[in-house]
Amino acid sequence: MRAGWLGLALLAVVLSIAVACWVGREAAELRCPECGSADVIPIVYGKPGRELMAQAERGEVALGGCILTGSDPAWHCAACEHRWGRTDMGR
Ligand SMILES: [Zn+2]
Repeated sequence: MRAGWLGLALLAVVLSIAVACWVGREAAELRCPECGSADVIPIVYGKPGRELMAQAERGEVALGGCILTGSDPAWHCAACEHRWGRTDMGR
């Protein structure tokens, strides 16, 4: 089945491109622009619930607090404490 193999090869190519784009985008976002560390966690705003508190204690997220100023950073570097990016919340 020649067509079958061709279809499979095409699917593999499309999948690898999609994965490369996804990984590339994630890697670009999750690097600290100050120190280059990959130890970057998202900042979560609002009143944290029990699950969010547990995630924060495990160092998976940073808590940004309840008050949004309109220019709030989206990412927190666990290595150098630098915060950057912008959330789209409140807009
Ligand atoms: Zn950093």
